[in-house]
Amino acid sequence: MAVPISQMLTVASYVLKQKIKGNKRYPLVLMLEPLFRCNLACAGCGKIQYPAHILKTDLTPEQCFAAVEECGVPMVSIPGGEPLLHPQMPEIVAGLVARKKYVYMCTNALLLKEKLHLFTPSKYLSFSVHVDGQKEHHDFAVCREGGHDQAMEGVREAVKRGFRVTTNTTLFDGADPNSVRAHFDELTRAGVESMMVSPGYTYDKAPDQSHFLGKAKSRRMFRAILSNRKKEWQFNSHPLFLEFLMGQINFECTPWGMPTYNIFGWQKPCYLLQDGYADSFKELIEATEWANYGAKSGNPRCANCMVHSGHEASAVNYGFGSLRGFIRTAKAYMNALYSDAGAQKLLDEWQPEHRGPLVQIATTPAAQTGELVSGD
Ligand code: SF4
Repeated sequence: MAVPISQMLTVASYVLKQKIKGNKRYPLVLMLEPLFRCNLACAGCGKIQYPAHILKTDLTPEQCFAAVEECGVPMVSIPGGEPLLHPQMPEIVAGLVARKKYVYMCTNALLLKEKLHLFTPSKYLSFSVHVDGQKEHHDFAVCREGGHDQAMEGVREAVKRGFRVTTNTTLFDGADPNSVRAHFDELTRAGVESMMVSPGYTYDKAPDQSHFLGKAKSRRMFRAILSNRKKEWQFNSHPLFLEFLMGQINFECTPWGMPTYNIFGWQKPCYLLQDGYADSFKELIEATEWANYGAKSGNPRCANCMVHSGHEASAVNYGFGSLRGFIRTAKAYMNALYSDAGAQKLLDEWQPEHRGPLVQIATTPAAQTGELVSGD
């Protein structure tokens, strides 16, 4: 089972309540960023390029709880930065679990093994480990040799100690679908509960701007990866979001579905863009010019975006929004393997691309080890 039944029921009843209330813009998952510090400097991210005084700043547990209660979501994703560098992360997670929120704590797992004893296994807590592919691909994506082996060691240890463990794989131009499928096999063998996959986004701050995927290329690549699935693979994405990635259905983005709260406030309009901040969730919903975002808006920054933080909530909303959406979702669950001879041919003929050199962010040694808080 990709997601526990209790979580599915909680989310379903929450969405139905929003529908009954007639709430058109409701949040589903809070993207809670309690810090931007990281012990990696990935070429596709760049958040570590904030100035030192920003990197030193953390949200307090009370600020985190207030944000969660203010927007009322059933699920919280904690990205960053690297959340395990936050000195009060165990307290934040425990407080969210006590509030019966389903928490996905994102981590590159470099510190997971040594910090596991600070957390307690719970159906409400899942470690969402960032692993971008097989060894060579992951180490390239995170610009760190040995990063893959360390992450997988963390995954195996967390599974062994009874934690829910999911994974998060971000793909860029040049990804090899055959290797990604072998990566899914590897994660499944390691005992992860389920996997998530999403294309990368062209962050302004990302130092490598040449490896982001356009929509047509993304769809072709995801069709090759996600068709002809193995029955043992489990995904923790809505099946219609995966169909969206494969080019079988189209969704407009619903950026309010996964709002972002960080040290600056409520980020407008989404996890990826920073067009200002609101002081409250209410202000975020009421004062953001939503018509300026999404593929249909013509906003060039949205033209190639297919990320899960903008579109998975659209898939969930569609599934609950009409009989047609409900039937399509039910069919997606039944057609779980997505047999497709054309996609198999694509896979068989796929030529892996030659990689260019690593693009590294220039950071201080302290930034790379996450010790900025007491150093610079
Ligand atoms: S399309 Fe992407 S970048 Fe644009 S608002 Fe939606 S999530 Fe943000």
